Amino acid sequence: MTNMIKVLKGTKDILPQDIEMWHFVEENAQNIFSSYGFKEIRTPIIETTDLFSRGVGDTTDIVNKEMYTFEKSDRSITLRPENTAGVVRSYIENGMHRLSAPVKLWYKGPMFRYERPQAGRQRQFNQIGVEMFGIDKPAADAEIILTAVNFLKSIGLNNLEVEINSIGCPKCRTEYKEKLKNIIKPYLNELCEDCQARYEKNPLRLLDCKVSECQNIYAKKEIQEVILSDFLCKDCCEHYSELKNFLNKLNIKYSENKLLVRGLDYYTRTVFEIKSNNLGSQNAVCGGGRYDGLVEQLGGEHTPAIGFAMGMERLISLLPQQETKKLDAFIVSNSSLDAFLLAEELRKKGISVEIDLANKKFTKQLEKASKIAKFALILGEDEILNEKVSIKNLFTGEQISVDKKNCYNYLGS
Ligand code: ATP
Ligand code: MG
Repeated sequence: MTNMIKVLKGTKDILPQDIEMWHFVEENAQNIFSSYGFKEIRTPIIETTDLFSRGVGDTTDIVNKEMYTFEKSDRSITLRPENTAGVVRSYIENGMHRLSAPVKLWYKGPMFRYERPQAGRQRQFNQIGVEMFGIDKPAADAEIILTAVNFLKSIGLNNLEVEINSIGCPKCRTEYKEKLKNIIKPYLNELCEDCQARYEKNPLRLLDCKVSECQNIYAKKEIQEVILSDFLCKDCCEHYSELKNFLNKLNIKYSENKLLVRGLDYYTRTVFEIKSNNLGSQNAVCGGGRYDGLVEQLGGEHTPAIGFAMGMERLISLLPQQETKKLDAFIVSNSSLDAFLLAEELRKKGISVEIDLANKKFTKQLEKASKIAKFALILGEDEILNEKVSIKNLFTGEQISVDKKNCYNYLGS
């Protein structure tokens, strides 16, 4: 094994022993999201780089540091770091604004960010998410949060914390941003390099910096006073109270976190995150929010919208390990042809079955059957002669002889 090639740093194989967890999560997503009227959309993994500089924002970490970008035929192309921008592009390009609102879409698939790999943080990772277009009412925000919470419940995750905040609209936020900048100004030199850049371009994002020195500064009393001050205009305030009212009535537990932000002007009003206490420092499983300005930002008509994205690897790491499903049956026989023919009949009936392809001895075949299947179907010389099959239940050891043509009736678990 010289020169063995290894998987790239920050990427992982999803191996057969884990795939059932993925199917479980994906099937639940499909069921829950469709029960709320969301339809699946699949957009390309590669998009033009501009989509993300305009759609995610060129002052964000994602666009500044984390994108996989390359040139092809004089075009700058980027592996999608997230899927909202792609879905919005498709919404506009396919004239979905002509459909009656709300337009509800969901997606799943790999995203790419050049980050420092660590537990819960990969360079290729999978997200599952939803987007809803065309409704500016707080009922839409409530339904999106409800969808997220119920999906998480459906996979058995009940003990998660929902945090919400409102970041207002570009109008009421402007004054707040100025106040924030003024109060932080004396500490500018003490902030991390990223925060120094955010200070000018994206001051709201200062608040969710993960560097502890910066957080210590933002924890100062006079800065906290500004952070906690109410800056929302009347409309934004009403929207936020109505959302909270819905959540209370719907029995969704949440806490308010004024540090929860999305820094860009096309994000408006509601932002939320869902966190787990069992994930260490990479503890967010879901991030979402309203982005009423984004469709217009990407060249469409003004369209209110809201959505969320969840990190599938983080979700799956919270689930209990599942046992690998066993095959329904393994055919034990020295006659490959008879085994083949029976296996094909059974597969047509939806039964999962394997046969021996290696001319192994009977006892070896039985051993293999007991490892991988629920039933051993024994086709010895006598059975073949009499059109019979001996069925051995590999959990109980019980064995019965039945007619070959209806043996599938006995293979229920
Ligand atoms: P974080 O603060 O953890 O970097 P983020 O704000 O970059 O999160 P979003 O862009 O909102 O995250 O993505 C939504 C979800 O996708 C996150 O809550 C997380 O569960 C998951 N996620 C984001 N980046 C990664 C990554 N590099 N590896 C694995 N999961 C990720
Ligand atoms: Mg990130």
